[in-house]
Amino acid sequence: MLETCELDGEGLGVEWHGYVLGVDLEEAVKGHKRVLVQAPDGLKGFALKVAEELGGMGVDAFVSGSHAWGGCDVAFGEAERVGATLILHIGHHGPVRFKMPDTPTVVFAPAYLNRSPAEALRSAARLASERGYRRVVLGMTVQHVRYLHHAVAVLEEEGLEAAHFPGPLGIEGLVIGCDYSSLRGGFDAAIIVAAGRFHPLGAALWTGKPAIAADPYAGSAWEVDAKPYISRHLYSLSKAVDAESFLVVVSTKPGQENLRGAEKAAAMLREAGKKVEIAVFDEVSREALVNLGGFDAYINSACPRLVVDDPHLFPGPAVNVGETRFLTSGNVEEWRPRDLFRLYP
Ligand code: SF4
Repeated sequence: MLETCELDGEGLGVEWHGYVLGVDLEEAVKGHKRVLVQAPDGLKGFALKVAEELGGMGVDAFVSGSHAWGGCDVAFGEAERVGATLILHIGHHGPVRFKMPDTPTVVFAPAYLNRSPAEALRSAARLASERGYRRVVLGMTVQHVRYLHHAVAVLEEEGLEAAHFPGPLGIEGLVIGCDYSSLRGGFDAAIIVAAGRFHPLGAALWTGKPAIAADPYAGSAWEVDAKPYISRHLYSLSKAVDAESFLVVVSTKPGQENLRGAEKAAAMLREAGKKVEIAVFDEVSREALVNLGGFDAYINSACPRLVVDDPHLFPGPAVNVGETRFLTSGNVEEWRPRDLFRLYP
């Protein structure tokens, strides 16, 4: 029985609460005197620890206090303000949908969890077998990708056929909230190694197939039920079909900015006789949206997961920019959950 494993990947250094930084810190900051350290909310403590280490190395380190939602959300403005020539972005795998500028330098440093997902995977495999799923495709968030080959071995030991494919930036088996392209090939179900329901739900919406969550933190597994999310979104979509006034939401976050899609959606709706305004945000918040007054419906061109996972952010029915064609045609019959991820109308 597999109880130990060889981890994939080398060059690891600073540790914090069971995580290990996926880059060699000295190597990463070589030649930089001022560094901005960025991390998502759950890893802010890791950012503080890294900043402390950098201070000990004679580097001026600043910690970003802002959210860092994904590889789409790199704090270029903050780095410029404090004169940092390097952004050390902890916790994500790489840039999402934006071209890296020449300056400042950005180093993405995954925070790998030092905990085998074997227990959760064994539960997931049992669940898959109970449901009659034999062929599975494996996806993981970046925290767990070092365990990919170990995970495949565990699933095969449990009698499943387990495949994996390159995902964003060619990283084997990787899934992110808005890109599940690694989940392909013929399979009965996807098994997603991640904390919570966010990524497994995304996998179910993207693939239209069953998705089983294997949560290494909880050591347990469950099958995601995407139906309530789909029903709620279809209700929003049908309300938006009848709307007369729209606010199109544009984000300035580097990988979420989709001005081309937003302007195209606005043009389509105006052509259909609707009243449309476009508003620009760094951080989309309910308070900021309410401040802009009432609209019948909202078109979101920022992170596509907002309308699914956080629909209450919007003061009215909200759909994604890639779904605009359903509003102008008035026909939602052909809508599929995958349409949530389309970037253009
Ligand atoms: S799901 Fe949203 S927050 Fe995550 S990388 Fe994609 S756009 Fe960014």
